[in-house]
Amino acid sequence: IYTNFIRLDMDPNRIIGVMALIQDVTEMRKLEKMRSDFVANVSHELKTPLTSITGFIETLKNGAIENEKVRNRFLDIIEIETERLSRLIDDLLSLSAIEHDRLHFTKKKIKVNEAIREIGDIVEGLAAQKEIKLVFELDGSLPEIYGNPDWFKQMMINLVDNAIKYTLHGGSVKVLAYKRYENIFIVVKDTGIGIPKEDIPRLFERFYRVDKARSKKAGGTGLGLAIVKHIVLSFDGEIKVNSELGKGSEFIIRIPL
Ligand code: ADP
Repeated sequence: IYTNFIRLDMDPNRIIGVMALIQDVTEMRKLEKMRSDFVANVSHELKTPLTSITGFIETLKNGAIENEKVRNRFLDIIEIETERLSRLIDDLLSLSAIEHDRLHFTKKKIKVNEAIREIGDIVEGLAAQKEIKLVFELDGSLPEIYGNPDWFKQMMINLVDNAIKYTLHGGSVKVLAYKRYENIFIVVKDTGIGIPKEDIPRLFERFYRVDKARSKKAGGTGLGLAIVKHIVLSFDGEIKVNSELGKGSEFIIRIPL
């Protein structure tokens, strides 16, 4: 708490009063700290692939380019790191656009089943690569919801992509959508590695990862769930996570109708 005492003494010999201004700056400080932490995190996240790219280019220029095998391996790494950089920038732009527009945007009609089926075409290839069984159980008669259809699809892709990423070869991922009371529920459930209980409260923070190495190896940016959280908020909804280590996780979204 800041306390400012201001002497109201136009005539230095005659004090006519004292005004105390008490202002709670806890929230302001917290926001400032979050902002500066975020800038530091972004810089670090951008710097890591860049350092790697610069290093490998330098090594190539210093002679490694002569050896075909080494050259190809280094070029592959440069390609992977460039793609990571590009994904990171895309996710940062998405997050900032959603955060910016979340409270003022034109809502459009979304047919939940149709939208989920469309993302199915995108994620089926990813599941097939790991021989993961991908199942959709969508209630036939779901009412329409209103919001941004692109965000809705992005939310679903991020959740299903994670479910596939953090599930071992041969596992299964289920996507359910149903209506209960005046809500639409969407559940993404996997038989994956699970999430430790103590990590669950921080999961939706930007750049928070349970296992940094695993996330990076799987091509993660650490922003997927932060984006999901903001999209869920744009639907006035909420998201919950249940998980058991080694058994699997489920992400449950509730969107009020
Ligand atoms: P990332 O790009 O690292 O996947 P996310 O924001 O999408 O970032 O997720 C944050 C972290 O939450 C991940 O790094 C991972 O540790 C954990 N996580 C997310 N989804 C799952 C899941 N379905 N199963 C296990 N862990 C998960």
